[in-house]
Amino acid sequence: MPELPEVETIVQQLNKHIVGKRIQSAQVLEQKRVDKSIEKAVPSTVVRAWRRAKAIIIELEKKKYLLVRLGMTGHFHYAPKPESLGKDEKFAGVKFYLQDGSVLSYTDIRKFGSVRVLNEARLQKELAQFGPEPLGKEFTATKFKEMLAKKPKANIKVTLMDQNFIAGIGNIYAQEALYHAGIDPKRKIGTLKVPEIQKLHQAIQQVLRQSIAHNGTTVKNYVHIEGSGGFQKYLTVYEKTHCPQKHLITKVRMGGRGTYYCSRCQK
Ligand SMILES: [Zn+2]
Repeated sequence: MPELPEVETIVQQLNKHIVGKRIQSAQVLEQKRVDKSIEKAVPSTVVRAWRRAKAIIIELEKKKYLLVRLGMTGHFHYAPKPESLGKDEKFAGVKFYLQDGSVLSYTDIRKFGSVRVLNEARLQKELAQFGPEPLGKEFTATKFKEMLAKKPKANIKVTLMDQNFIAGIGNIYAQEALYHAGIDPKRKIGTLKVPEIQKLHQAIQQVLRQSIAHNGTTVKNYVHIEGSGGFQKYLTVYEKTHCPQKHLITKVRMGGRGTYYCSRCQK
């Protein structure tokens, strides 16, 4: 499932390809997960695109917003001409035809994602549920310590993946950050010492930034608009048999998710 770095990569590319351009028409092909009313929200010029948590927001004129959740397999294709869209485009959920002749399509084979059209009040309501952005200015080590202090009995790895607690981190980056911080994912928050929290804070920001620099992680089906991610080469524990120190990795299930860690590097 795309997490913060993957969604951020796609948003940067949407800014490059469609922001400032005029959408002439839209064709909704999958009405269960895509609002049919998108067709009536255009023609409109794309004002901007940004990310909040794992969601993409595409702002149209007159404060109309497309809220895109990629789910497991949602992705965009952009092509200068409709006929140069790839072959999986027959599964597209929605296609946007731009005034310059180019086309943006959204495809979601497993249909866990969605594309909704919202007004500002509904958008704000949707976005209010998320915790702080881990790469935002407000997310300092002190703030992180205060947030964690409220949940002493909770498990650290499960909490990092809780979108109400902190936004954008999923199964891959929670595990990678815990490895870099040297923290066993089975730990309860109340047992973490201040230097460990500081180290974890730094590790979270570092893995997210590095992954964005490599256009995200492709392990199964994540693709961004221009291809696949590159951060999988830098993973330390996720779906690995050995850590970078050549120790054997342990795999456990936590909250229903496969969790990888090194019992020698992580205490
Ligand atoms: Zn190790």
